[in-house]
Amino acid sequence: MAMMAENFGGLAKPTVLVVEDEAPLLTLLRYNLEKQGFRVDEAADGQEALLRVAEARPDIMLLDWMLPSLSGIEVCRQLRRRTETRDLPIIMVTARTEDQDAVRALDIGADDYIAKPFAIEHVIARIRALLRRSGRVASKGMLNYADLAMDQDAHRVTRAGRPLHLGPTEYRLLEFFLQHPGRVFAREGRPGAPDARTDQSRIAWPGAECGTKAMQEIEAR
Ligand code: CA
Repeated sequence: MAMMAENFGGLAKPTVLVVEDEAPLLTLLRYNLEKQGFRVDEAADGQEALLRVAEARPDIMLLDWMLPSLSGIEVCRQLRRRTETRDLPIIMVTARTEDQDAVRALDIGADDYIAKPFAIEHVIARIRALLRRSGRVASKGMLNYADLAMDQDAHRVTRAGRPLHLGPTEYRLLEFFLQHPGRVFAREGRPGAPDARTDQSRIAWPGAECGTKAMQEIEAR
């Protein structure tokens, strides 16, 4: 599935501090995170990571386990000891895949754990999920109408529990209709006056041709 860059509801871009000593991997992470709408700060070893955090606290930290000067585990342990960084969201990244390593990372205070090699989409999804859990990015939540449900975080739509596969334009149209219930839309797609017959306290599917047509196309699948 193509990932969409988020505008984070108009809030400032979340800063991800990427701590990674492998330069090509750091470049890859920076490129993809920036493309997805994050600000990226970086550190190439453990000591530098602690300095960066002290200079400007990031919103989230992607912390490699095996680092020169100070290991990721040690960085995490030190950050957890300090009041000001006790709750800094940390995702531990490691080439070690033993279950005990995951337990150790979480034990030491990491919020999440990703094993190398990883898919970049997976890393971004975990960053978003942790930012939401920690309240740094508001969850966009669910839009519902009758048996239609749109999960705006996961970009998933279901009808009566069954997944609907929508193209990007169809998705945006449906999202727009669900966000503006009870309104009449002109054929060109411009919002018209609110329908006076509609009780605004109740959710109503727009009865105009545009919305109906979109629904029929979805139902015809
Ligand atoms: Ca490393």
